[in-house]
Amino acid sequence: MNSPLRIWAERTLFIFALAMIVVVYFYVTTPGLRDLVRPHQCLFLQATGLFCPACGGTRALGYLLDGRLQLALKYNALAVLSLPLVVYGTVTAFRLVFDRNYGPSDLKIAPFWIWSILALIIIFWIIRNLPYFSFLNPG
Ligand SMILES: [Zn+2]
Repeated sequence: MNSPLRIWAERTLFIFALAMIVVVYFYVTTPGLRDLVRPHQCLFLQATGLFCPACGGTRALGYLLDGRLQLALKYNALAVLSLPLVVYGTVTAFRLVFDRNYGPSDLKIAPFWIWSILALIIIFWIIRNLPYFSFLNPG
């Protein structure tokens, strides 16, 4: 069944995937591009002086693309370690759009895991701002 919504979702996902491939290609192959792309200043950091869970994420992913895992972990360990979840979410999104036999009722994520991930983000948010865990903040 080709509903207009599914067709729209397929085209949007295709354009998004194509744009991501182009961005990653230029990011990896263009020397000096990373120096031009400055990470945005986090509003939470500006307002409170504290790091949010996403602070350092852009730099972490940049270093990860460079193959510098240790630096990537230094800037945002949570972003790096959550990449398998991002891959799983992307694959699931593609399956929802392109696999006619796969629907929202096939998603089997126990509430325990959703709450665990939320708790992990909050714990990371808190401890990266504590002096004893300063190795987790990107500053
Ligand atoms: Zn932030």
